[in-house]
Amino acid sequence: MKKYDAIVVGAGHNGLTSAAFLAKAGLDVVCVEKNDYIGGAAVSRNLYEDFWYSNCSYVCSLLRPEIYRALELHKHGLQVTPYGGSVTFMENGDYYGSYQDAEVAYREMARFSRHDADAYKTYSADTMRQCRFIRDFLLSTAPDPTSFKPRDIRELIRIGGKFLDMGEDRMYETIRFWTMSVAEYLDEYFETDVIKAAFSGSGIIGTALGIHSPGTAYVLLHHYMGDVDGNVGSWGFARGGMGAVSNSIAGAFQAAGGELRTEAGVDKIIVRNGKVTGVGLENGDEINADVVVSAMDVKRTFLTCMDKGDLPAEFHKRVENFKIRGSSGKLNIALDGLPTFPALPEGSSLYNSDMHFIDSMERMERAYDDWKDGTWSKDPYIDMLIPTLNDPTMAPPGKHFMSCFVQYCPHQVEGRAWKSEEKDAFAKSVIDQIGNYSPDFKDLILHVEVRTPEDIEREIGITEGNIFHGELTMDQLLFNRPVPGYAQYRSPVAGLYMCGSSTHPGGGVMAAPGANAAREILVDLKRRNTVPENFGDD
Ligand SMILES: Cc1cc2nc3c(=O)[nH]c(=O)nc-3n(C[C@H](O)[C@H](O)[C@H](O)COP(=O)(O)OP(=O)(O)OC[C@H]3O[C@@H](n4cnc5c(N)ncnc54)[C@H](O)[C@@H]3O)c2cc1C
Repeated sequence: MKKYDAIVVGAGHNGLTSAAFLAKAGLDVVCVEKNDYIGGAAVSRNLYEDFWYSNCSYVCSLLRPEIYRALELHKHGLQVTPYGGSVTFMENGDYYGSYQDAEVAYREMARFSRHDADAYKTYSADTMRQCRFIRDFLLSTAPDPTSFKPRDIRELIRIGGKFLDMGEDRMYETIRFWTMSVAEYLDEYFETDVIKAAFSGSGIIGTALGIHSPGTAYVLLHHYMGDVDGNVGSWGFARGGMGAVSNSIAGAFQAAGGELRTEAGVDKIIVRNGKVTGVGLENGDEINADVVVSAMDVKRTFLTCMDKGDLPAEFHKRVENFKIRGSSGKLNIALDGLPTFPALPEGSSLYNSDMHFIDSMERMERAYDDWKDGTWSKDPYIDMLIPTLNDPTMAPPGKHFMSCFVQYCPHQVEGRAWKSEEKDAFAKSVIDQIGNYSPDFKDLILHVEVRTPEDIEREIGITEGNIFHGELTMDQLLFNRPVPGYAQYRSPVAGLYMCGSSTHPGGGVMAAPGANAAREILVDLKRRNTVPENFGDD
């Protein structure tokens, strides 16, 4: 039977990234995917007529430019175009618009508060400083503070140096920032409720925490630290939907000689005498290799696809305790035309921006209260976009695709499986929320795909449908992600590695975990490194 150099489990964008860098180093690699399509949570699917939905992730910013360049993703069809701004509709008929043009943004904020407009510059500089600090760690392996290996010590000294360079006050601020709530952070700068509500959304997206929960200020960074064409903090659309990201990486993998197998779900990761020897597929086939790289989340990898006896008890317990809670849902909607939002001036650029419908911090927190009660938010926080205003390839001429990311939506309703009428009610709460601000919206709806965390788990295999493969809280970041002592992509089993979003630096369409894992594997195999490291583009 053929033996590969490496098997990568899961053709999400991280699995494909690992596979591509390993293949580029000359390894014979097969990537196996359970679905009949690739991409995982970075996917475009055609589920209704000629509409293409970005079913899960919908906007691109975190994808590391170093990886884009190293894998020459432009040659494999990836094009990311920026969009800008956001709007928060208010119950009193007004709206708060956030614009990219600094002058316009200032004037709009000053309409609510001159104090806040003046404070924005400091807020922006302070938040960007935190982004630049963390961006430097994204494409490197987190050092283990308990290790005496020269590379760990060197990296700890490098990070310590960067920290010291900030200066005394900013060092204090950084520690506070990493542990405080997004609400507390915003209170330090702003006085206007709608402005704070508008900014606070980025602290809770994909997170089973509320705006007042400690640690949510850090989550903000996952929405600011990316870039489009070097413009830090910008977001963009991948032309053709987010599947274009995964498809381009798959193109690079195949161009390097890699083999991609779909409908090849892994049932078991096989371990013999403490070493990995391959995988057993759901159809009974076995594939052999001395290296297996799992892009599945950490719970699915170790608790579902492995025997407990193959793992140290302490490690197993830590994986069981890893927090990975479903808190977000999604509606993908095909529209017969462009809905109007009468609060906005005709032709406003804000049509082509993130649209939000919660205008106070009180309502933001109440939305979380529903999740804690085991149900979906009755007054949901929605991050809504109409990508077809930017990318006409996703719908027939004159029609539109609307993407609605919804916070909060539980993995299960009051601890049991969703009933179909509950799914309908969840969808209705989102449609009604948007309909409150757009009178013609409901009449334009042609088709709706409703996705609860339970659906996301079933389709993509992410435990509880958690979008980041595990909460992005301090206890689960850097050298603690996913498990202390195992944050460098290796597992307790020789030859078995992790490369998905449960590893450093976490979730989002970033491709960094996949790239970092490949670099570590190539070190262990004493092969030529093909993976960029610490390029930094600031
Ligand atoms: C609803 C939603 C919205 C999001 N929005 C954004 C966004 O706008 N921007 C952004 O940057 N990020 C967003 N994210 C987060 C981001 O999409 C994910 O963090 C990221 O795509 C995860 O990539 P991954 O490769 O680590 O894992 P995944 O994409 O989860 O890939 C894992 C792969 O493994 C496969 N698999 C699972 N089990 C098996 C098995 N037993 N055998 C074989 N294959 C298996 C799965 O089918 C899947 O293809 C969103 C996520 C979701 C769910």
